[in-house]
Order: sequence, then structure tokens, then C-alpha cells
Amino acid sequence: MSVFEHDHEQVVYLHDVETKLHAIVAIHSTALGPALGGTRMLPYASEDEALADVLNLAKAMSFKSAAAGLDLGGGKAVILADASADRERLMTAYGGMLDRLKGVYITTEDVGTTEADMVLIGAQTRHVTGLPISSGGSGDPSDATAWGLLAALRAVAGRRWGGELRGKHVAISGVGKVGKYFCGYLARAGCRMTIADISDEATRRVAASLDVDVVSPDDVHKVRCDVFAPCALGGVLNDVTIPELACSVLLGSANNQLADRSCADKIDARGILYVPDYIANAGGVINIAEELGGYDRRRAFERVAGIEQTVLRVLDAAKSKGITPAAASDEMASERIGRVHSRRCRSAPL
Ligand code: NAD
Repeated sequence: MSVFEHDHEQVVYLHDVETKLHAIVAIHSTALGPALGGTRMLPYASEDEALADVLNLAKAMSFKSAAAGLDLGGGKAVILADASADRERLMTAYGGMLDRLKGVYITTEDVGTTEADMVLIGAQTRHVTGLPISSGGSGDPSDATAWGLLAALRAVAGRRWGGELRGKHVAISGVGKVGKYFCGYLARAGCRMTIADISDEATRRVAASLDVDVVSPDDVHKVRCDVFAPCALGGVLNDVTIPELACSVLLGSANNQLADRSCADKIDARGILYVPDYIANAGGVINIAEELGGYDRRRAFERVAGIEQTVLRVLDAAKSKGITPAAASDEMASERIGRVHSRRCRSAPL
């Protein structure tokens, strides 16, 4: 694959022979501000696979931050390594290399990296966020992400159910960090819940404190319910699962839920409302962005609650233009990025 087929501003390969650090940083857009996005560390099968992943994720971050009203661009990084790597040496080398990018990219944790890694990176560069609370950071963003999902659901309830969430049945696939917090918020809102996870320990942990039904991970998307919430992996809404859905709303935290763009139309054709993933799950990035100016949890959670208004804007735009919410949110995000980009180009000296 060629990087030049994509519209990213910059793609940087980081290579350190001594520590065997192999990483790729993709900066999709800095039109709205520095590119913020996590560092994912995975044993990718190939460099091409890692490149495809980082390019997609960086672009999604641009859209997520733009739609959330943040003055941040979109970027992402991947480290091609497995868990056996010498963490301290690797992250130290990585942090030093990120510093040389001079803040055009700000990193945070993602799949395969932890708060402890961010501390190691933070010893080498200030262009890192998502630090532990003990280091003055905002800590794990999962609670904020779940709070944002509830805000998105409130918007849906406002448009579909006269504002009422009590008694609504939500089926949740994946009760890890975000799913677990989401279940807590749903219980307080009076919702009925069905949960599934490939980890028995994860479902047991939730079932120990909340009244939930547990089903198999292979069947959870088929549960007759009001909302199906994908909170595990991407690509779960595809040609196999879409015909089997028995919900009226799709709203969850997983990134890149649609297997491809045509899935949004297929979902719409079934009369199911899909709340775009990067709109509903923006709570984490909104929370982390707050850390850049000095973190205050109450203020951060108030900003996250603003996702309710963003979802309402998306649903209203979709309705008035006769397009899907996925298309409406893409339009909204790319318009904001494009507006700032062209203003910047007009004011640049020749
Ligand atoms: P996590 O790893 O803590 O939880 C994911 C859970 O899904 C785990 O319990 C895992 O066992 C389960 N799972 C994996 N495969 C499954 C399957 N096929 N069926 C059912 N369950 C399965 O991750 P998380 O931090 O809770 O994130 C969940 C999703 O939300 C991810 O896609 C992540 O990228 C996205 N997301 C997370 C945040 C955040 O703040 N953590 C923010 C935005 C988006």
C-alpha cells in the first residue's frame, strides 16, 4: 500500500536499532490543533497491516475531535511489538523520538499501552497526556467515555422515547473498562441490561453487583432490545450481523464499528438508528484534552455531557438532509476541519 493514496499530512517511521523500536506515527490533520491520539502497541503480522491501522485510526481521531468541538487535530501511533518487549527501554526511546516531533503529535494510551508507559514517555517529552492521577493527570478515560455514551443515549431518548430511559433494554457486547462503567450508569437510569463478553471474569464482575442477564458473545447482537451497544471490538456491524440485529438503536464505545461505509446504509434500510461511534465515544478524548490545560474532573465531565447536544445536531442534520447519521457526522467534522484549513491557507504569507 502507498501512503500517498491517503490524505494524511505526515507519516513518520521511528526506528531505533538498539531497542528494536519499530513505530509509525500518522498525523492526519493539524488544521484544528496538534494531532492527539493514542499509541497502540500490537504484534502486527506485517508492516502493511500496521500502516493501514494507523492511517485509519489517525483519520478517525481528526473526525472525532472535530465533531466534539475540540481544537485538536487527529493522529495516532503504532508500535510493532509484543508484550515481551523491554518496556522501559522501548518507551524511553519512543518518548525521545516523539519529542523531536516538537508537539505536532501528542500521544496517550491505547490498546496495548498503559498509564505506566505514559509516565516513561513523559520523562522524555511533554507531548503526552492521559497520565495517572498520581502524576497530576486525568487517569483512565473509560469512566468519561461511558458517561459520554449515556449522554448520547439521552439524546436518542429525547428524539425517540419522549426523553424516557427507564425500562429501556440495552444489550452490551464487551463489559471491559468502558462497558462496566456504562452498565453502572444504565442501572442508575433504570435500564434493563443484557451483557456478553468473551471473558467470564468480566461478566461475573458486572453480574456480581448489578441485575443483568448474561448471554453468549456470539448471540448478543441478536437479542431483542431497544439498544445494542458494541463496547468490544471494531467491525462488528457487518454483512453477517446487520441482518440479525433485533434492536432499534446502535450506540456503543467500540471504534470503527462499521465493517465498511456501506454498512451505514444497510443499517438505515433496516430502520435502525446508528449513532456514529466517534460521536458517541468521544468522552475519552474530551476528558484527556482537558488535561492539556490543567485537569479538573467536574469540568471535564460537564464537557463530556455536551455529547448529548452533538448527537442531537447530528440527528437533526441527518433528518433535514435525508442522509444517514454517519454521513451527517462525517460532513459536520470535515466541514469544521476544512473551514479552518482554508482560513489558514488564505492568511498564510505567499
Ligand atoms: P477493554 O479491553 O477494557 O474491554 C473490552 C472487553 O471486550 C473485554 O472485556 C474483552 O474481553 C471483551 N471482548 C473482546 N472481544 C469480544 C467479543 N468478540 N465479544 C464480546 N466481548 C469481547 O477495552 P475498553 O477500554 O473497555 O474499550 C472498549 C472499546 O471502546 C474498544 O473498541 C476501544 O477502542 C473503544 N474506546 C475506548 C475508550 C476508553 O476510554 N477506554 C474510548 C474510546 C473508544
